[in-house]
Amino acid sequence: VQSPSSSDKPRILLMGLRRSGKSSIQKVVFHKMSPNETLFLESTNKIYKDDVSSTSFVQFQIWDFPGQVDFFDPTFDSEMIFKGTGALIFVIDAQDDYVEALSRLHLTVSRAFRVNPNINFEVFIHKVDGLSDDHKIETHRDIHQRANDDLADANLEKVHLSFYLTSIYDHSIFEAFSKVVQKLIPQLPTLENLLNIFISVSLTVLILMYTTSQTCMFLPDAEALFYFRLMQDGSGCAYDKESLATIKLNNTTVLYLKEVTKFLALVCILREESFERKGLIDYNFHCFRKAIHEIFEVGGVSSLLSEKRNSSLKFA
Ligand code: GDP
Repeated sequence: VQSPSSSDKPRILLMGLRRSGKSSIQKVVFHKMSPNETLFLESTNKIYKDDVSSTSFVQFQIWDFPGQVDFFDPTFDSEMIFKGTGALIFVIDAQDDYVEALSRLHLTVSRAFRVNPNINFEVFIHKVDGLSDDHKIETHRDIHQRANDDLADANLEKVHLSFYLTSIYDHSIFEAFSKVVQKLIPQLPTLENLLNIFISVSLTVLILMYTTSQTCMFLPDAEALFYFRLMQDGSGCAYDKESLATIKLNNTTVLYLKEVTKFLALVCILREESFERKGLIDYNFHCFRKAIHEIFEVGGVSSLLSEKRNSSLKFA
């Protein structure tokens, strides 16, 4: 079975005004750049295509657009660009006056929707680190209201926009990107099913899955992210097939990390007494890992999600 060519991979577009933070988001989330380093990034002035397959578990590409893209320019091929797009992320700088950004958002969404009504429209209300909590809520409410009013005025109320408050200075940008990517994974229900089975048969309280780019796929809370960072520091974050890490916390909880694929780790949060049956957990993990490899790597297409594969898994 051939792996999908780059043109088949779901495409995520990053759009928004100049200096809204598009390149920073991409560099921080997928290239491990520290937030402070983004201060020195040059502004995006041409379409930058980033195939994140070599750094991410989920195969997709991100196209970072310059702020001043002109939809009426005949060289802007909106058919080609929007047809193959899974999600369009529009970044709005919440620390700046956002009137122009909103009109740009409207123009972009109405254009894209006409070409491809299946695109997920995701609005990142970005740089909220500079806003007080009250100001965040008010900005969110205001942008939500105005963007939807603009759509209603254009008889486009059926277009759905999702909003996220984001900053590269905390985990919010990882969480938002994770949600955007999750919507594009056709295997998601199967993956969730596998995780549920794993939990129920392995005495595990909770499991988390992380990609090495630190974009966690299932992030229950910030505390969990903290634990993961702790483990990464301990394990040096160099994954291979044998990689694992165990941490005993004071409160009789054990964290157990194991490599699933080159780009993905599974972290189990267990009670100490459950961890005494480590052999059972390891065996179930082996089954889980095998299933993940089959579902995501053998062709990587949704047609592989047959019930048969699922039911042939033998967890202990
Ligand atoms: P682009 O032109 O949309 O690609 O924007 P850049 O990624 O070049 O970012 C423009 C500026 O915004 C840079 O100085 C970044 O450091 C800054 N920036 C990006 N994201 C954030 C954020 O979440 N919070 C703050 N305070 N600044 C940010």
